[in-house]
Amino acid sequence: MNGENSSGNRTLRNSKQRQAILDLLAASPEHMSAEEIYQQARKIQPNISLGTVYRNLDTLSEQGMIIRSSFADGKARYEMAGIEHHHHLICLQCGEIRDLEQCPMAPDLEAVLQEEDFQVVQHQFEIYGYCHQCQHRRSGE
Ligand SMILES: [Zn+2]
Ligand SMILES: [Zn+2]
Ligand SMILES: [Zn+2]
Repeated sequence: MNGENSSGNRTLRNSKQRQAILDLLAASPEHMSAEEIYQQARKIQPNISLGTVYRNLDTLSEQGMIIRSSFADGKARYEMAGIEHHHHLICLQCGEIRDLEQCPMAPDLEAVLQEEDFQVVQHQFEIYGYCHQCQHRRSGE
């Protein structure tokens, strides 16, 4: 095998793996961590490694194809870009993540940011607590 050929194969494999990751995210209503994506992606692309998943997730979020949110448990979650801008409600008990449509970014905050001459790329806002089911479970204990 000559060098040209093997790098061509690698590019093809990379794009297949990237597409597999995108397909997974597009099909999932959940916010997935890199490990979860890796577990699912392995079923489609058995040769994929966790490192490859991380690299592809980095590239895809740099390209704006997917959105990465960092949560307090230290794990980032990923979802497809193009959905409405939103925030998250995160259950501390079961880990459920729900979308919150309201955005707390107030117009006067935007004015302050303009005064600071800070160019905002994105912002995050997550609310932690207990979901309906977990509240019941907790009060029943
Ligand atoms: Zn819960
Ligand atoms: Zn979300
Ligand atoms: Zn917002």
